Amino acid sequence: MELAYRDITYCKNVGAKRADILRKELSVTTALDLLRQYPYKYIDRSRFYKIAELDDEDTYVQIVGEVTEWHTIGIGKAQRLSATFFDGTHQCELVWFQGVKYVKLQRGVKYLLFGKPSRFQHIYNFVHPELTPWDKVTPEMTQGLEPYYNTTEAMKRHGLNSKAMRTIIAELLPELKMGVPDTIGADILQRYRLMSLTDAMINVHFPKDTLSMQNARARLKFEELFYVQLQILRQMKRREQNPGFTMPIVGSRFHALYKALPFELTGAQKRVIHEIHDDLKSGHQMNRLLQGDVGSGKTLVALMCCLLAVDNGYQTCIMAPTEILANQHYETLKAFLKPLGDAVHVALLTGSTSAKNRVPIHNGLMNGTIHILVGTHALLEDKVQWNNLGFVVIDEQHRFGVAQRAKLWTKNRRVAGDGHAMPDVPPHILVMTATPIPRTLAMTVYGDLHVSIIDELPPGRKPIQTIHYNLNRRAQVYAFMRKQIDEGRQVYVVYPLIKENEKMDLLDLQNGFNELCEAFPEYKISMVHGQMKAADKDLQMQRFVSGETQILVATTVIEVGVNVPNATVMMIQNAERFGLSQLHQLRGRVGRGGSQSYCVLLTDNEISSDTRKRMNIMVETNDGFRIAEADLQLRGPGDLEGTQQSGTPFDLHIANLATDGRLVALARQAAKDILDVDPLLEDEKNRIYKNQLDTLRIKQAYNWGEIS
Ligand code: ADP
Ligand code: MG
Repeated sequence: MELAYRDITYCKNVGAKRADILRKELSVTTALDLLRQYPYKYIDRSRFYKIAELDDEDTYVQIVGEVTEWHTIGIGKAQRLSATFFDGTHQCELVWFQGVKYVKLQRGVKYLLFGKPSRFQHIYNFVHPELTPWDKVTPEMTQGLEPYYNTTEAMKRHGLNSKAMRTIIAELLPELKMGVPDTIGADILQRYRLMSLTDAMINVHFPKDTLSMQNARARLKFEELFYVQLQILRQMKRREQNPGFTMPIVGSRFHALYKALPFELTGAQKRVIHEIHDDLKSGHQMNRLLQGDVGSGKTLVALMCCLLAVDNGYQTCIMAPTEILANQHYETLKAFLKPLGDAVHVALLTGSTSAKNRVPIHNGLMNGTIHILVGTHALLEDKVQWNNLGFVVIDEQHRFGVAQRAKLWTKNRRVAGDGHAMPDVPPHILVMTATPIPRTLAMTVYGDLHVSIIDELPPGRKPIQTIHYNLNRRAQVYAFMRKQIDEGRQVYVVYPLIKENEKMDLLDLQNGFNELCEAFPEYKISMVHGQMKAADKDLQMQRFVSGETQILVATTVIEVGVNVPNATVMMIQNAERFGLSQLHQLRGRVGRGGSQSYCVLLTDNEISSDTRKRMNIMVETNDGFRIAEADLQLRGPGDLEGTQQSGTPFDLHIANLATDGRLVALARQAAKDILDVDPLLEDEKNRIYKNQLDTLRIKQAYNWGEIS
């Protein structure tokens, strides 16, 4: 029977019990699924070591020698067996804690020792090594690369360790060699010089040499990424067909604001507004990601686009992740719109809007008199109903969950004159992020959104100077802070706050606050953190914004969007505990006025070379994209700011978005070439892709099509 249809229960060395475990632990149900469990590493078994060659870094090694002496210590469960192994010149120690009675040792016999050495004082020891009498060593055992498979505790309890997995998979080899149907067409295999699926599977499990193993893995990675891209791009093509509100007019409010601006828009801002306006005219729903470094002027772009929609008779909203930000956007918008008088009606709705104040807002939304609603998650409440919501801005979108965004679709409970519900047309969606995302990652995480980039800062900004100090330079840093404050500037002091460590971190924050109060008795200091009541937090923030306090001590709650142009120093405590993109975000809180600004990174006196590298990147560059790229390389995609909350949408088993960037680009191109000609995969020659997509059933939970 074909491998794809054979139940694992009937694979050799499996059986009902183990099949059950494999299904539960790895979601493996067929022989082909088993073959899709790729090794996570390989150990070179063609190399033999001498004990004298070992160093602490060694992982697994094999050594030929004899057991010269052994003894057991303790009794019963606590019994352990210790033996001395001699390779002709040097000795090492072998130890068994478990299954001692099964270990049969013989003097004067040549053994192959295989295991992972660790050094204790001057002697290397191996815990639970494999020890095989030399006459039982088969050529396969010491040939080439030995694959290692992921296993779980439950699997191990049923004897399904890496070695057992290898044995089970090895049994499938003869059949595998007869060939499995490929999942990628011959033309693509040829164009991108990829192995067939059959060859790739053989070589990923039983590699002849390193090169064929690498080629096999490249092919399998490409395949995985190709199907992710095919899925994303097909979604995008489908959605490009969604109907959308048509907003062709560039109207009076837009022009009035443009004329009233105290400065000229940057070239990048103008370009992006054009791109968005083209979408609004198109008759199809817009789904666009606006990337722009901190301070690049995204808020104004959002406002101008809202006015485009308002001039066409639609309502709009701007959703922010925190109350502080929503308040600030509201104030910013009102300031920009002041010259327009009553022409634009802006309202604010957050969790702390009182029930009494909500009534006129709900009414204003329903009867269409409110043009722009700024707010937090509160916008998503069921009570919030619109007359005709046409344009939605989501700021710092990664802070919103997927399900929350989906709610925006159902907001227009529009009823036609005759009492019939009108068809639901989704609003245009603009997602804004100040966390630049490396290109190859964006291709996957935001692969189905059109992307606009503001790659230019407003003129006249002086680049922020970044300095890295050890804790023992604190006095100097304080002196510097004092000088700035005496010149009339304000200072942020930020402490890390990690959920798992919250109590300790809050203590650090409090101590830091006390210390600063002592060091700067002549100044006023505010403090904010996530555990405070919203009202207290806002009060403290407000004191800093208005200039009443000179120093703001905070956790990362101020990370996004806060705008106090008079603040010129960002001092970050324990900078080693922040991610690079997060540091960059924090740094973006200063340098927003005309004065020279500074970012001071304080780290422990003793730091790792990794930390030093990261601090150096921050000191060297202000370019958010370069920093994001470095962050991706250093931390991998899972931890990357901007993808954490939403999670990387696709489970990748073999490809790695941090290191396989080139393959991501190739796979996307290959998928695009196919869909450009045959967007719905209806062509007979593309049936292979359509079928495979259906079988893969790539996590449908992630379904941007219905979200943004
Ligand atoms: P972002 O949200 O992208 O981090 P903001 O929208 O907060 O940036 O803009 C930062 C500051 O720059 C704000 O004070 C804003 O008024 C100002 N600004 C925006 N566009 C321009 C421009 N074209 N020229 C000068 N200043 C600008
Ligand atoms: Mg902003």
